[in-house]
Amino acid sequence: MSEEARLREEICRFGRSLFERGLTAGSSGNISIRLNDGGWIATPTNVSLGFLDPARLSRLDADGRLVSGDEPTKELPLHTALYETRSDAGAIVHLHSTHSVAVSMLPDVDPANALPPMTAYYVMRVGRTALVPYYRPGDPAVADAIRGLAGRYTSVLLANHGPVVAARSLEAAVYATEELEETAKLRLLLHGLNPRLLTRAQVRDLVTHFGLDEAIAEEMPETCSHPHHHSHKSE
Ligand code: ZN
Repeated sequence: MSEEARLREEICRFGRSLFERGLTAGSSGNISIRLNDGGWIATPTNVSLGFLDPARLSRLDADGRLVSGDEPTKELPLHTALYETRSDAGAIVHLHSTHSVAVSMLPDVDPANALPPMTAYYVMRVGRTALVPYYRPGDPAVADAIRGLAGRYTSVLLANHGPVVAARSLEAAVYATEELEETAKLRLLLHGLNPRLLTRAQVRDLVTHFGLDEAIAEEMPETCSHPHHHSHKSE
């Protein structure tokens, strides 16, 4: 099996897994992989992630032109905007996952750090998440908003819509999206209960131990100065 054939199978397998676990409903959600020639394989428009056909996935060249397969997802500009600013991104997953969408609508979400460091695995797999404002689907301004983050985030939450998550491999992007969704679920379960978050020192330890992006630790004071968590401020 060629490398591209293997990647096509992988998109269908992960798509089906995400759909069957209710992580994105109907024909929502889309997946893409960046290939070595600069082109992409993407999921087609109006198709459920649960019922993808490897032969009908959209194959695009480095200029974004459709080379073979069905018409790509209309949300492809979300993917290309993130790839443009993240040269290390090999795959992107976008879902309409319920808990992440719910968090995107809460009034007290920090746009620079949409979810607090609740678990080590969120810090390790996602790091931090930016929240961008609501835009009508298909509005090119949403891609501009993602470009405006200048590659500082691999995880972006679109308000009243859903997450867009990049990683080196499709497997890593899927796992990060799942971790984001579980963290959003915890955030909602604990809303108003003043939970103990990871401290700055605990996040710093994860960044050092696992060689994570330094920005994750550097931007922690913002999270810790959240009005409900003054107790963490002095550590
Ligand atoms: Zn969407």
